[in-house]
Amino acid sequence: MPPGLPAERTTVRQSEKGRAMIFRNGLVLTMDDSHTVLENADVLVVDDKIAEIGPNLTAPDGHEEVDATGGILMPGMVDTHRHMWQTAMRGYGADWTLTQYFVWYYLESGKHFRPEDIYAGNLLGALEAIDSGVTTTVDWSHGLQSTDHADAAVDALEAVPGRFVLAYGNIQQGPWEWSTSKEFQDFYRRRIDGGKLAGFQMAFDVTGDPAFPEKAAFEVARELGVPVTTHAGVWGATNDDGIRLMHDGGFMSPGHVYVHAATLSSDSYHRIAATGGSVSVSTESEQSAGQGYPPTWQLRRHGIPVSLSMDTSVWWSGDLFSAMRTTLSADRVREHMEAHGKQETVTHHHLRAEQVVDWATRGGAKALGLDSSLGALTPGRQADIVLLKNDASPVMFPVLNPYGHVAFQAQRGDVHTVVVGGRVVKRDGRLVDADLAAARAKVGATIDHLRSTLGEDAWKQGMNPDIPEARVLHNPYQYTK
Ligand SMILES: [Zn+2]
Repeated sequence: MPPGLPAERTTVRQSEKGRAMIFRNGLVLTMDDSHTVLENADVLVVDDKIAEIGPNLTAPDGHEEVDATGGILMPGMVDTHRHMWQTAMRGYGADWTLTQYFVWYYLESGKHFRPEDIYAGNLLGALEAIDSGVTTTVDWSHGLQSTDHADAAVDALEAVPGRFVLAYGNIQQGPWEWSTSKEFQDFYRRRIDGGKLAGFQMAFDVTGDPAFPEKAAFEVARELGVPVTTHAGVWGATNDDGIRLMHDGGFMSPGHVYVHAATLSSDSYHRIAATGGSVSVSTESEQSAGQGYPPTWQLRRHGIPVSLSMDTSVWWSGDLFSAMRTTLSADRVREHMEAHGKQETVTHHHLRAEQVVDWATRGGAKALGLDSSLGALTPGRQADIVLLKNDASPVMFPVLNPYGHVAFQAQRGDVHTVVVGGRVVKRDGRLVDADLAAARAKVGATIDHLRSTLGEDAWKQGMNPDIPEARVLHNPYQYTK
């Protein structure tokens, strides 16, 4: 069980603790083992847990009531890979490829981020997550150049009432360097072990160097008993060699998360499946940056568990609606194209909306080993609940196919209420007690710092990469030229 949210993590009024609340008359996607869907049902929350689900429930005195009529109740979503420190640079890299991303963050500008810049990005990223109904997020935090940066990352995550898993990384050093340092070990004991976060992972990539220098970091992870999350199968960066080294070394353990896994051979997929790993698919990232084709069509064939992620808000916003939408579409277009290549026609899709909703909720909880307490709406589980309801939107009725509605129709603006561990963090479409002005000021200071450090020319160049020359084909049907 993950620890409950401690009182000091949030400024939510103390009187809200220990209260009961009930959602009335909603369409409930439980995401339980049999994916039970209940119409016109109530969800009763007592303290931090779901107490009961069913029609016409009786609530204790003094409870808060939310009318869910016309809305969809679903478990809080889980994002298993998000570089939250990069949220301060929201949208800056809209036209980047993965190469430009690497140059900007890994080689040139990532080193300019100070602890307060990590804090600013994480704070904004954390608020962005809960606002969109993502109640658990893995902060794939690979900008931790020092443990001061790591403290700042955790401080920000603890300031927002969502659940966060810190995936500790540092792109300015080899993983064999930072993971074996005394400072990292001290940080782990001081902030993580028995701490307030929902979990901890070690985040680093395996380049495929035959000397396998990453081995030392895997040994630290094993010693600490923490999972590893790694960008695997990324075109031009990581490939089957890394998987083979990990597997041969006995370091592919259950609970490890392989991010993207888009350019791997069948042999590597078999190794992931056989060792109890799962894959975090970031479809929008894979499509735009070029890690490889979004791999769900391969993962399904290899029986590999899937979760979804948004990667980084330096390109796109961090909500899982777009992840569900693009993942479903990418899988289907691949199925069509594979068939067309064989002069065949797909008449029935394999991947259904129901499955991607599962990946966005239960799949994420499973990937993080939190499935017994999160990922589904069942009595006894933690009350992490999202109500999708927007009476002002013509897109929110009719709700005929609820999974289809979540995956292909709904969006952030339809997130009406969000509850994390029984605590309301968004109500009537607005974050509760979130100081957005303070977050804006911190992000503004980070932008000022980076912009002045880089200089105006580099700042503009970074945002506007050169466009390669392109030629429009000669058109034989145009006779006039
Ligand atoms: Zn990533």
